[in-house]
Amino acid sequence: MNEEINKNQDIDDKESAIYAFKKIVEAYKGQLAGKIVEALARYGELTDNEIAERVDADDSEVRRIIWVLAGEGLLISKKVVNDTGWITFFWKLPLDQVDGLILSLYRRIIDRLEKKLEYETSNIFYWCMDRNHERLTFSEAVDNMFKCPVCGKTLMPYDNSELIAAIKYSIGEMKRFMNEYFMEVKENTAESQ
Ligand SMILES: [Zn+2]
Repeated sequence: MNEEINKNQDIDDKESAIYAFKKIVEAYKGQLAGKIVEALARYGELTDNEIAERVDADDSEVRRIIWVLAGEGLLISKKVVNDTGWITFFWKLPLDQVDGLILSLYRRIIDRLEKKLEYETSNIFYWCMDRNHERLTFSEAVDNMFKCPVCGKTLMPYDNSELIAAIKYSIGEMKRFMNEYFMEVKENTAESQ
């Protein structure tokens, strides 16, 4: 009976770890990266092409993200050489390291958001109001005599208070998510002892 409960507990732990891993990879590298993690969680081991099929996205874009994730140790590969010398890579999730990876990604995401927040709060921005053109900082605007370097339109003060609020919200959400996740891990470890 207890063994049965422990087994279910293990499955729950694994599922919540994979869910948390997917969420954090998504926050770090975008939606497609999250989908790739989800596909590998479901199917275990897949080739590039199989992943592209499962996530229904462009092959080369999927491959690019796979190598980015693999480069950061977020996916692991198994190289299989067949009789004719053809090499196939099979990808899978580093399941035994998920908690450590979640924590390190979390720190990187928070760090990135805090730097962004610092940049937004410590600068005044000017903008030509064309979505395809970059905002300029005050000193950049002075250098360009308050004209957009791309279209030449007059630069207007840009109110970034909504952006600042959005970054603060993301930081808060990320911290809440992590607290909940690691609280759960701690509780489950305590229960199973
Ligand atoms: Zn412009």
